Amino acid sequence: MFQFRSNASEAALNSSGHGPQEPTELAPNGERDNWPEHLVPGVRSPGSSSALASSGMVSPNVWVEDEEYKLILQDSPAGAPSQHPTQDMSAGTTALQDLQEKEKTPKRLRLLLVGKSGSGKSATGNSILGSEAFESKFSARPVTMTFQRGCRDWAGKKLEVTDTPDILSSRVSREGATQGPWAAVACCTPGPHAVLLVTKLGHFTKEDQEVVRRLQEVFGVGILAHTVLVFTCKEDLEGGSLDEYLRDTNNQELADLDMVCGQRHCGFNNRADGTAQEAQLMELMETIKVILWEHDGRPYSKEA
Ligand code: GDP
Ligand code: MG
Repeated sequence: MFQFRSNASEAALNSSGHGPQEPTELAPNGERDNWPEHLVPGVRSPGSSSALASSGMVSPNVWVEDEEYKLILQDSPAGAPSQHPTQDMSAGTTALQDLQEKEKTPKRLRLLLVGKSGSGKSATGNSILGSEAFESKFSARPVTMTFQRGCRDWAGKKLEVTDTPDILSSRVSREGATQGPWAAVACCTPGPHAVLLVTKLGHFTKEDQEVVRRLQEVFGVGILAHTVLVFTCKEDLEGGSLDEYLRDTNNQELADLDMVCGQRHCGFNNRADGTAQEAQLMELMETIKVILWEHDGRPYSKEA
């Protein structure tokens, strides 16, 4: 089965030129007046996660390459059955080998951070990149005003993380963000593999709901099939489980969104470091892996 592997030495790669790089400020382009022909207010399901179990896997062991993917073919027994990575692995190594021979994952992953100001997008981006690539601070006013991109090599993949201003809430235009939501589409061309919808644990409000609604307006409703809910301030769980928190929450909008996103969620303590930081990144990547399996490794595109 394909696995994201990572270890402390990979973090150390950073200083040898393979790790986090200076973020790139992205040009304010790509505003499109006529983009959204299917604007749909409110949260709509992009398709149930039951598609997971039935999602076809491509064999044999293919890493796709067009401009940015790499194709590697390995020996594989013909006709091995498809199996989703989250299914029971108790069948043992045979099932694992089958999975290994059917894995499909891009070498470059585009991750787009969205969420309201102060939710912890930039801090989460820094945690993923393993460096202080983006400015992150407590402020009454939005801190991030332009798109920025940071990259790192991780477990044999290139992670390309795009941090955004609060492009998806209506108040931003009044507060000086220089780029509009369509720039998010442009800067992620040909589309993000995963959108990380960042919200602070215990603070999912109407503003977050507005972000979700706008996200669908800008990208199309199908974007939620590529979305992971990322809860910052995970340390507030004090050792408790995020699954349990989401199961017990009386915030119905949050519970609904979690379901619509196929219960793809994970927590980040952006003040963590070392192995704790690495472990939470691993958890996120495992969640993203499910998205990749569901979509044969393809990024989100509005046409799809
Ligand atoms: P952004 O506006 O969404 O980019 O939010 P920032 O990344 O600038 O974070 C806003 C504030 O939240 C900063 O003071 C961060 O240090 C803080 N913050 C973000 N994530 C966490 C977290 O996981 N734990 C704690 N304790 N603080 C966090
Ligand atoms: Mg920010």
